[in-house]
Amino acid sequence: MRPRSYRSTKVMFMIPVLMAAVTAFGQSSPGLQLNNYTIPVGKAGAVVGQFHDQQGIAKAVKLVEDTSGLFDISRKGEMKLKKKTSLANNGAAFKFAVTVESNGTREHFILVKDNFIRNKVVAHRGAWKNNAGSQNSLTSLRDAIRIGCEGSEFDVWLSSDGVPMISHDPHIGGKKLEETPAAELGAIDLKNGDKVPSLEAYIGEIMKQNNTRLVLEIKPSGVSKERGQQLAQTCMDIIRRHNAQAWMYYISFDYDICKKIAALDPFAKVAYLNGDKTPAELKADKIWGFDYNWKIIDDNMNIFKDARKNDVTVNIWTVNKPEQMDTYLKAGTDYLTTDEPEMLLQKVK
Ligand code: MG
Repeated sequence: MRPRSYRSTKVMFMIPVLMAAVTAFGQSSPGLQLNNYTIPVGKAGAVVGQFHDQQGIAKAVKLVEDTSGLFDISRKGEMKLKKKTSLANNGAAFKFAVTVESNGTREHFILVKDNFIRNKVVAHRGAWKNNAGSQNSLTSLRDAIRIGCEGSEFDVWLSSDGVPMISHDPHIGGKKLEETPAAELGAIDLKNGDKVPSLEAYIGEIMKQNNTRLVLEIKPSGVSKERGQQLAQTCMDIIRRHNAQAWMYYISFDYDICKKIAALDPFAKVAYLNGDKTPAELKADKIWGFDYNWKIIDDNMNIFKDARKNDVTVNIWTVNKPEQMDTYLKAGTDYLTTDEPEMLLQKVK
């Protein structure tokens, strides 16, 4: 018998209802994690992921809400598609909300059909350079999605009233991000007419599709080390509240911020930026990858081999020259962060 393909129209109708339910329940308590949030396409009975506690220990859970009726929990605690159910490649529905219960606590998750692009192309501050959008604007994010990047990078700071706001520099429009309330920052015009966006606006935008992911750079605080930790915590709380884990990669120059993210979600894909840790050191600290400046890489091309040996991912910034792109692609990099995503897209085609 052929596996039953799920009819997407029904699910399309359900999504707003499910999203409303998620919001009504409010924030999930930070207990359970999945080690994967994406649903393989065209595979009946496919495993999505296993539930764990924050220490990364597998947990048994009960499925208490699944309006789409697509999912089962295996005896091992894996979230999976039902035996004869698969997701069609051409189906329009891609977000599916589920609620599970463990030790009397209910938690909500969004599972996402895996149409995510794997072409190594990360648009640095969005796809702004060859388009109309300013860097780190919603327009530059939309352009990165439109042209088909695997990831779109952006930078966040904590506003004076505790809201993650997006800017590369520590100041924007003559105001210091860390000393200005979010409402004031959000009123500042960018060159292209966009306003300074918030992390939540970016999450809202990325969750409208399932091709491109966000690469969230958490900036170390200029005020104190603790404030950097607070920013990491706030970002992770927001991502959890929106159930946006499937869409996220994380990067930071502050190693303690990377470790904080890994502690809050042992399966978070977090990469370290500062260039001073070996792949073995990253692995020992359960950090998923590194994202180093190309000068560091050029001084040590053995790092590709070392990364593979330690099962650590490789990203390189900011790679804008065609011959550099060729070198690193040939060396087997996992990602390249670039201001020229259009050029890199041509190369990986
Ligand atoms: Mg950045």
